[in-house]
Formats: sequence, C-alpha cells, structure tokens
Amino acid sequence: MADLEIPTELRPADGRFGCGPSKVRSEAVNQLAEVADGLLGTSHRKAGVKGQVRRIREGLTTFFALPDGYEVVLGAGGATLFWDAAAFGLVRERSAHAVLGEFSQKFSKVCAGAPHLADPIIVEAPYGSAPELEAVDGVDLYALTHCETSTGVAMPLRRPEGAEGLVAVDATSAAGGLAFDIEEVDAYYFSPQKCFASEGGLFVALLSPAALARVEELAASERWIPPMLDLATAVDNSRKDQTYNTPSVSTLFLMGEQIDWMNESGGLAWAARQCKAKADHLYAWAESREWASPFVGDPALRSNVVCTIDLDERVDAGEVSATLRANGILDTEAYRKLGRNQLRVAVFPAVDLADVETLTAAVDYVVDALS
Ligand SMILES: *Cc1c(COP(=O)(O)O)cnc(C)c1O
Repeated sequence: MADLEIPTELRPADGRFGCGPSKVRSEAVNQLAEVADGLLGTSHRKAGVKGQVRRIREGLTTFFALPDGYEVVLGAGGATLFWDAAAFGLVRERSAHAVLGEFSQKFSKVCAGAPHLADPIIVEAPYGSAPELEAVDGVDLYALTHCETSTGVAMPLRRPEGAEGLVAVDATSAAGGLAFDIEEVDAYYFSPQKCFASEGGLFVALLSPAALARVEELAASERWIPPMLDLATAVDNSRKDQTYNTPSVSTLFLMGEQIDWMNESGGLAWAARQCKAKADHLYAWAESREWASPFVGDPALRSNVVCTIDLDERVDAGEVSATLRANGILDTEAYRKLGRNQLRVAVFPAVDLADVETLTAAVDYVVDALS
C-alpha cells in the first residue's frame, strides 16, 4: 500500500515531523549559505566563530530569562555526552532517577555503571506515565526528563520537597518548546537538533550557581575526570565564547538563527503557546477518531512537543508511516523500542500549525484507503 498516492492538497508544505534531527527552517539554511564564505572553514578561536558562540549564550540567556548567576555552558558531543560528563562532574556520590522511557533509562545506566558512584536510586513508572521523585538522604543529584521523547510524556519540573541535591533535567526535546520554572532546576541540558532546529553534536547546559559550585568542587577533588568530559573545562571555555575542541560551525550558526527567530517572535512564552496549539490539534484529532487515541492517558502529562498517537488493531501504524514516507511526509514512526502500534509526531517551534493540520488530514486519507 506504500504506493498509494496522497493528493497534493493533503501534503504538508514541509513534511518533516521527526524528533531529531528535526526540521531546519529554510530561512536559516539560506542565511547560512549567505554568510558561509566568511564563516565556514574559519578558526573557532577567532572572532567569527566566537561571535556565534556568544550569540547563542546571550540569546539563550534572554530566551530562558536566566536569573543572575546561571550560565550557558556548551561543548561538543550532545546530550548523550552530557550524561557521561554529569556522572563525573555533577554527581558527587549518589543520584536518583525518574525513569519513564528509553532516554531517562540511559542516564540511570550511566550512573549505575560508574565505578566511582554508589548505586543510583531508580524510580520507574510504566511508559506513558511519569514517576515522582522524593527527597532521599544522601542523594546529591535528582535526574528528571522534561520530555521523554520515546513516549511523549512531559513531566512537571519540581524540586523534590526538602531535597538538598541538584536537579538535573534532560530537556533535549523539550528545551525551547515547553515552559518551566528555572528556579526548580540546576542543570537543564539539551542538544540543538530538536526545538533549536539545528544539527546534532553539541550539548548546551543551563547551570545554576549550585551546579557551577558542584562542578568546581568535583574538578578540584581527587576524582579522575576524562578531559573531554570535564565540565569545569566546558565552563571555562564557554566563558571565553568557545568550546574545548572543534565544534561544528554550521550547527552553531543554525542554532543562533533559530534562537534569534524565536526571541524576535516572542520568546519562550510564544514558542510554548505555538507548540501547545499544534499538540492540542493532534490530541483532539486523535480523540475524535474511533481508531486513534493519545498514548499518554493523563492529559496533564501529554507533551506539547512530542505527540504520541496509538492506533487500534484495525490500522497498521507501520503501514501508515510507510505510506506517508513514500509521499514525502517523514519520520512519523513510533520510537522503535517502545514497540507500539503508534504514530509519533514532533511539533517543535519550527513546524507550522498548517502543516500539522494537513498531516492529520493526510492520515485520515491513508487510513481510509487502507481499510
Ligand atoms: C534526542 C534525545 C537525546 C539524545 O540526544 P543526542 O544529541 O543524540 O545525544 C537524549 N535525551 C532526550 C530526551 C532526547 O530526546
């Protein structure tokens, strides 16, 4: 059925709905082409590239309205590298993890495997819901995930009551599309290929004064820290508007373009409203179809950036996604390891509401044709 042709009017103007790499705005790519000759292929220790790092650091300070003392820290490697770096530079002895999907589980495994750390506390919830962490004596870092990309659950970000440790948040798919209270978090980290509509390979972390103090404390301790994973080195370089090793200059530039675009459009409040409107459309559509339903049962936990829609046994989601793909509508497949009959649609800030509306009409058309 993959050779089913979807009529032109049911094809979104832009067919990229993946969770990362995700849609990069053509305006940003064109701008990159515009400046490329003087920027790509030039030294990351000179003003041109350092200016891009500064643009990101200042732009994010504005975008997230960072309180005094919070810093934007970045380096090569992405959120996955940041987990390893955090196990060396943020966890003093013992972490506690809310595990609600594949990504949150990965960070808990990093800490479980680190020979210099005590066994982490793991609080799990069935996929599609979210666990709540409570303060535990001796825990010095609480790991939350703002949006669990593998399930489409967005968890509230709250410091566990009475907790003395840091709150570290994997915000890789959430950052830039979901509102939150910055005072509740100490390390809010992400990669730029999701809401920031750039490419992968970079991590960005918003660090609170308490997190910065922890980084300094552990860097000065006896602990051996691999140089590439040393957050003190990342902090030091970020303050000089550079990265420890060579970054992807186009990634920096595209991220800077997206930050400027979002700041000019109305900042995080605007982006969060925009994403909510698109997610509201998708969830309402799913609830109105007999053969579809939102995977996340509790509406309060449904993500406004990563929307997961279960299809019932009458419809093969894999076949639907394959048909969409053959028609240029890409990356609507469920997270593979979740193993559900599901569509997953990212509605990051760069994705247009009109395209999401066209997408649901296209799915209706395909389901009708398949049944
Ligand atoms: C995409 C994603 C990651 C992995 O990001 P990389 O840049 O590939 O390291 C981690 N956590 C979450 C929640 C994600 O969505």
